[in-house]
Amino acid sequence: MKRSLMDILACPMCKNELELEVTKEDENEIVEGTLHCRSCGEAYPIEDTIPNLLPPSLRE
Ligand SMILES: [Zn+2]
Repeated sequence: MKRSLMDILACPMCKNELELEVTKEDENEIVEGTLHCRSCGEAYPIEDTIPNLLPPSLRE
């Protein structure tokens, strides 16, 4: 995902701001990382540049 996506992403559970933690990034975008919600404590993984914003109960 592009870093600029952070401007429009919000926590799907509580609609609050997400905090980005990058573990792998190339020159264009974030490849792997985690989006943390400070408000409800939920975490959403970024895998292969795709942020997974599904609520945990709907994953897998
Ligand atoms: Zn939240």
